[in-house]
Order: sequence, then structure tokens, then C-alpha cells
Amino acid sequence: MPYKPKTCRRCGEWYVPMGSNQKWCKGCAATANLEAKREHNRRYSAANTDIIKERERRHYAANTDIIKERKRRYYAANKEEIKERERRRYAANKENERNRERANRAHAAFVAGLAMFGAMAPDTGTKEA
Ligand SMILES: [Zn+2]
Repeated sequence: MPYKPKTCRRCGEWYVPMGSNQKWCKGCAATANLEAKREHNRRYSAANTDIIKERERRHYAANTDIIKERKRRYYAANKEEIKERERRRYAANKENERNRERANRAHAAFVAGLAMFGAMAPDTGTKEA
């Protein structure tokens, strides 16, 4: 039984659907499906951030050795590409990188300053006389 023609939700053209749930014309289907999936994933991850993070944390904890070994092998096999990409990223973000390095140095100096006054010294549980 043929379906009644309807208008594509994306481009508005008339088309004859091949199924009752078809929303887009043939020309739009591939792109529209990708857009719909992307939008669904965006909404899903926004609504389930905690669940996703917890699942990833558990996955990492259960597979730490495998993941580290895979990363190590990937790095060894792609060392030059990774370094080149990192060099290009640094060059493209020079100002941000300099600011971050400056902030890190200032933070390290601050922590060192605190340590000098004993504020960051580990608590040994003993009282000084
Ligand atoms: Zn269309």
C-alpha cells in the first residue's frame, strides 16, 4: 500500500515516503539523520553528565593497564606526528600558553612561599614543644 505524499521536514519538498515514520526526502535523509543523531547525543550527554562520567571512571578503573598500554603503543607509533601537532597548537595559541605558563610559575612560587612558612608542611601528628 503506497503512502501518501508529505513534505520533507528539512527542505519542505514534497516526496512519497517509503515507510510510515519517514521524516525526510531522499536528498535530505543522510544529512538529516546525522543532524538528528548529533542533536540527540548533545541532549543526552547534557542531561546525563554525571552518569557518563561515572561510567567512564569505572571503565578506566577496570581497564587501566589496557588503556595505558594502548596509549603507550599509540604514542610510540605516532611520536613525530603528536609532537608536530603539539608544536603547531602551541604556535597557534602562543599568548594563551605563555599566560598559562606564567600562572603555573606564579602558583608554584606561591605554594613554595607557603611551604617556607610551614603552612603546607605535612601534618606529622606530633606537637612541637
Ligand atoms: Zn528534503
